Amino acid sequence: MPEDRLSRHRRLVEADHRHLWHPFTQMQSWLAEEPLVVDEGDGVYLVDTLGRRYLDGVSSLWCNVHGHRVPEIDAAITAQLGKLGHSTLLGLASTASIECAEELARVLPRGLTRIFFSDAGATAVEIALKMAYQHHQLRGDAERSEFVSIRGGYHGDTIGSISVGGIDLFHRIFKPLLFQVNQAPQPYCYRCPLGKRRATCAMECAGAVEEVLERRRGKVAALVVEPLVQGADGMITQPPGYLRRLRELCDRHGALLVCDEVATGFGRTGTTWAVEQEGVTPDILTCAKGLTGGYLPLAATCTTERVFESFLGPHEAQRTFFHGHTYAGNPLACAAAIASLRLLRERRVIEGLPAKAAALADALRPLAEHPRVGEIRQRGLMVGIELVKDRATREPYPYAENVGHRVILEARPLGAILRPLGNVVVLMPPLAMTEAQLRELAGIAGEAIRRATAEA
Ligand SMILES: *Cc1c(COP(=O)(O)O)cnc(C)c1O
Repeated sequence: MPEDRLSRHRRLVEADHRHLWHPFTQMQSWLAEEPLVVDEGDGVYLVDTLGRRYLDGVSSLWCNVHGHRVPEIDAAITAQLGKLGHSTLLGLASTASIECAEELARVLPRGLTRIFFSDAGATAVEIALKMAYQHHQLRGDAERSEFVSIRGGYHGDTIGSISVGGIDLFHRIFKPLLFQVNQAPQPYCYRCPLGKRRATCAMECAGAVEEVLERRRGKVAALVVEPLVQGADGMITQPPGYLRRLRELCDRHGALLVCDEVATGFGRTGTTWAVEQEGVTPDILTCAKGLTGGYLPLAATCTTERVFESFLGPHEAQRTFFHGHTYAGNPLACAAAIASLRLLRERRVIEGLPAKAAALADALRPLAEHPRVGEIRQRGLMVGIELVKDRATREPYPYAENVGHRVILEARPLGAILRPLGNVVVLMPPLAMTEAQLRELAGIAGEAIRRATAEA
């Protein structure tokens, strides 16, 4: 007799509780709750083991672009499976990785022509750090061994990427393991660490970056930044002109600019790349999440011919970039990326984003007046709704109240999957969501916030 739906669900939950250790999850709480088990995707919806449908409000952690089970991407992966599952890029080329690099180079900011593949955002950033460091070493600038990063930044969870990260809650326990990085204050206008006000400030946050570069003159290999929006710290949107200032500062101080577009890339902020909105080309751009449309792990560290050429030399000069991951440029992932990049172009997805972002902003507008909503920050289809205990004083919700988690639990029976960042409720819908679906998502988020903060 075939297993019925409820028995299957129970069996899976029991096995999950027995074997899995979930990322960024307090497992004691997890084991005490009934988990939502995702079983299928259907366009911009996820379906759980009990057959309930939810809008995928955070793009399956910020990576889905065109929705789930997209016929074109499914077909591309299936076709690739019929040819080859995996072959290495170490000393060998492969058709899918070549065509993927070509497609990606077509959309990269002008000047970024060299693509180093890996498999996660964190590895793309590790590669950027090592590449920047070795670039200066090979140019005979041995002093340039330091990095500058921005407080509140998130660049992944490996030791190098958390060294340039700046989220205290995640990173402080590992501090003894990390290398020293020069951190500049966060451009967080709602809670300006420099005590300035948006209307009257002279962008002292960028001035503080300049001070760091002055102080470490001749020692900085690269400045690492999430362009336009610091995602994981709560969708902290930067003031206009901030990134452009950082580009000028790097040029003046001979440091490379690394823009981590792992979250912001592929249309997320309303343009293909966030850096476009500031007219900036970084020396190194990292991307991952949306690269395969949210299907398979693939990341890229993209750089200029200038950086690439530092590494050239005869075999015996040992200028090689000694770095590589086994699954770098995996053909299945590359096939998915090619199909996703083509869909972005053929469906004119980027062109459609301003109207979608406007519809989402419009639907969120009533929520801005809610007494527990401190600020709504949005760039394109990237939204953070910061909840506060007190609007007037901007007093944050205490960690123990776990208000973000309460909101996402309220959102589920209303039909959306969300994920909070502390007290910030995040909306990060697939770019494929229609304006009507975006309005529905905003409505659910608003109602979930009202319910979760009602008794608090
Ligand atoms: C998610 C993220 C990363 C890490 O990517 P993984 O694939 O999870 O390793 C790095 N940088 C930014 C900006 C991110 O949002």
